[in-house]
Amino acid sequence: MVKEIYAKSIINKHRRRDSWFLDDYSLNPYQLCEFNCLFCYIRGSKYGGNLVRELAVKVNAPTLTRRELAKLAERRDYGFIALSSATEPWMHLEERYQVTRRCLEAILKYRFPVHCLTKSPLILRDLDLLEQIERGGTAPRFEEAWTRHADHHFALHSR
Ligand code: SF4
Repeated sequence: MVKEIYAKSIINKHRRRDSWFLDDYSLNPYQLCEFNCLFCYIRGSKYGGNLVRELAVKVNAPTLTRRELAKLAERRDYGFIALSSATEPWMHLEERYQVTRRCLEAILKYRFPVHCLTKSPLILRDLDLLEQIERGGTAPRFEEAWTRHADHHFALHSR
């Protein structure tokens, strides 16, 4: 039986934008990962080499996502959200819990751009939301997030 946990917060702000995935934030609706890939970098974390033993669903992830994105949107602190950086958001558990789907609903509501990192075909279930996120209004936020990145990059390289 998988553990159900309540997270204290869910949106992690990165000190620096990731130069590979270009994300400013990451959102991990689960703790660890049932795919347990041998090459996964999480194996080097405090959880050690077995990513299934402490596997847990953050059952309040959608509520926290709505709350935290509302605050970020109020401050116009837009940026790319990586979904996810330290778990698989569309693992089998997601069929039952649907926390990733409900986080995507919040991302759509507050119009943040999102990067999806997955190896699961279950992402296809959420194409309706992903298409809305892409077409339904994230473009201005994408531009804000991108402009901020470009300004930062320019400032760094013109010193
Ligand atoms: S699916 Fe991704 S997060 Fe999960 S174990 Fe593999 S590399 Fe790590």
